[in-house]
Amino acid sequence: MSKIDEKLQPVLDEVLRRNAGEAEFHQAVHEVLESLGRVVAKHPEYAHHALIERICEPERQIIFRVPWVDDSGQVQINRGFRVQFNSALGPYKGGIRFHPSVNLGIIKFLGFEQIFKNALTGMPIGGGKGGSDFNPRGRSDGEIMRFCQAFMTELQRHLGEYTDVPAGDIGVGGREIGYMFGQYKRLTNRYEAGVLTGKGLVYGGSRARTEATGFGLVYFVQQMLATKGATLDGKRVVVSGSGNVAIYAIEKVQQFDGRVLACSDSNGYVLDEGGIDLALLKEIKEVRRERLSDYVRMKGAGAHYIEGGSIWDVACDVALPCATQNELTGKDATTLIRNGVQVVGEGANMPSTPDAVDLFHQNGVMFAPGKAANAGGVATSALEMQQNASRDSWTFDQTEARLAQIMRGIHDNCAATADEYSAPGNYVLGANIAGFVRVAEAMQSLGVI
Ligand code: GLU
Repeated sequence: MSKIDEKLQPVLDEVLRRNAGEAEFHQAVHEVLESLGRVVAKHPEYAHHALIERICEPERQIIFRVPWVDDSGQVQINRGFRVQFNSALGPYKGGIRFHPSVNLGIIKFLGFEQIFKNALTGMPIGGGKGGSDFNPRGRSDGEIMRFCQAFMTELQRHLGEYTDVPAGDIGVGGREIGYMFGQYKRLTNRYEAGVLTGKGLVYGGSRARTEATGFGLVYFVQQMLATKGATLDGKRVVVSGSGNVAIYAIEKVQQFDGRVLACSDSNGYVLDEGGIDLALLKEIKEVRRERLSDYVRMKGAGAHYIEGGSIWDVACDVALPCATQNELTGKDATTLIRNGVQVVGEGANMPSTPDAVDLFHQNGVMFAPGKAANAGGVATSALEMQQNASRDSWTFDQTEARLAQIMRGIHDNCAATADEYSAPGNYVLGANIAGFVRVAEAMQSLGVI
């Protein structure tokens, strides 16, 4: 990681002191502060009234016990979190993650990223994130339901369509949102559709929300390529992960005639030179909820499962990390660059380590940070809130057209901001500064709160 501006160093020092041991949160703050040096040089007023210090301190952090009973009658205890980071632009907005790795530092890093991402969408949404160290793997449907109900029993007192609006993230999809919405409705006796997003279509969900993160990512990459007069047509694409973001990124790449060679899960990756069979992938992941290794067993000839291997060893033109934080290291970046990668677009939140990002920049690889490139998911969540508020329901095409327009807007804003701050082509700088400026202006108007 490179040095940050000397005026901002004390801000970082305080974040490190106050949030000891929270490595991912430190990483996310460091990256943003690194970009803000140029802003405070040009606009010292943005540093007045401890504005940057305030942005780095969550407005509220909630940690709670989640007791539930498993199928064998045993009482299980998990820990629940909601970090309500910043509400200058609107109600706190951000997903809920169920994964054994979840801790306060992870939720804080995600909540911090969410502030800038949500600002970039141009929609009226603040930043927050929540989750639990609950591991859904191998749990029955009944156990998932009881866990979601227990989690919402405590969380509901902190939510509201004007207060805090969660959605999904890793380990939380349509099924979990349904159980949580049901419990919220039962406890509050209110059909408050706008309190959660990512809902099913029959009870207030938005068309294209399921697809939005992956589709939006590919729209963003398409815009980046267009600045060089290129398209996805015929490009070799590697997509890590095989969850919601990865699946719909693959779908959109294939619609644009790109060739998706590989995808992965935490045990290894599938290489299918003929192109990933999307219908089969959806059947395994969305219907059967099985592991990716089943793909090769069901597909037969042409496909290989490389257990324990790194998907970044597969030569490609476009790499889309869509699994999880810090999944693409400096070593992986070196391999990708050696194999001629042209574009890297982050579908996950902070999947590239800082040294990987530096290597991409130094080697002329176009790089889109997650907070810009994966903002299509939360942007479509804001469209879902809009539909709920007006008791309306839009068509798929209408919603997707809005998503495409929003992604184009984010791309152009990041590119123009990078130019304005003398770093043409640096989407990291562009995203951090453009997101920050919108939040900073709102915070200045609202006074010291
Ligand atoms: N978890 C998603 C994200 O990282 C979506 C959040 C939302 O829709 O509120 O942006």
